[in-house]
Amino acid sequence: MHSYFRCPCWSVSVLNCDLHCHSTCSDGLLPAAEVARRAAANGVAMLALTDHDDLDGLPAARAAADAVGMAFVNGVEISIEWEALQIHILGLAFNRADPALNAGLAAIRSGRIERARRMSAELEKVGIAGAFEGAMRFAANPSLVSRAHFGRYLVESGVCKDLRSVFESYLVPGRPGYVDHRWATLSDSLRWILGAGGLAVVAHPGRYKLSRADMRRFLGEFKDLGGQAIEVMSGSHTAEHVDAFGRLAREHDFLASRGSDFHGPGESYVDLGKLAPLPAGLTPVWQAF
Ligand code: AMP
Ligand code: MN
Ligand code: MN
Ligand code: MN
Repeated sequence: MHSYFRCPCWSVSVLNCDLHCHSTCSDGLLPAAEVARRAAANGVAMLALTDHDDLDGLPAARAAADAVGMAFVNGVEISIEWEALQIHILGLAFNRADPALNAGLAAIRSGRIERARRMSAELEKVGIAGAFEGAMRFAANPSLVSRAHFGRYLVESGVCKDLRSVFESYLVPGRPGYVDHRWATLSDSLRWILGAGGLAVVAHPGRYKLSRADMRRFLGEFKDLGGQAIEVMSGSHTAEHVDAFGRLAREHDFLASRGSDFHGPGESYVDLGKLAPLPAGLTPVWQAF
């Protein structure tokens, strides 16, 4: 892995690094080892598996990556709440055994099943029955039951035609099936990631409903707490997002990350390793590993 860092900058920034994806340990469709093998087959040079609030897939993904000679870094996507918005912070290249990180993630997970029951009760009120059991059938790891599993049930049962329309009409604030939840705070997530020796990255900043001024305020707080990077290339970013967040990364002096946010074949916008390279003039987060 260290040989990468002897490369001149121009070649380091076009390395095919995919630092955001999911396995069945959270709401992905493939087991962790299969995610790693698929990444390698797609030409990924360095992978981070970043399951939601859970580290259980990391050993199997690392072993599969080692077996095919692909570099691997530990990852996690932490659910936090900032001013009533649900935001995701990625941790990368941390010590997986860190006790405070593991305890913090366990605390976030502990409320998910109860939240799922409340979501199901809310869906029942608009005539959608059996959502708890339906979502749980998709959740290989029940403690990580998420809106993605409910989304799959709403598609399977014919309520919505695809996941995109699920998240337009259901499960989001102001729509049936949305339930508030107490996630971690921004400062919790940074304390856990940095305390475990990792780097913190704002996941898919283009997805948050923040005004330009609030986004700057959020990024300022993130930086003050020790946050180092933002995702510029993301499977959920448009070309406009890439421009805007590339500019913000330069302005705030953030490292830039690249991640497909792959959840599974046929479900994700972009497959593992298939995003365009980072735009020129940005410093890739992997230079800091
Ligand atoms: P939760 O952690 O239970 O709030 O669920 C969040 C998950 O729902 C995300 O990680 C995605 O997998 C999925 N999700 C949220 N919004 C969307 C969207 N607009 N399109 C597709 N999937 C989404
Ligand atoms: Mn997800
Ligand atoms: Mn996310
Ligand atoms: Mn994700």
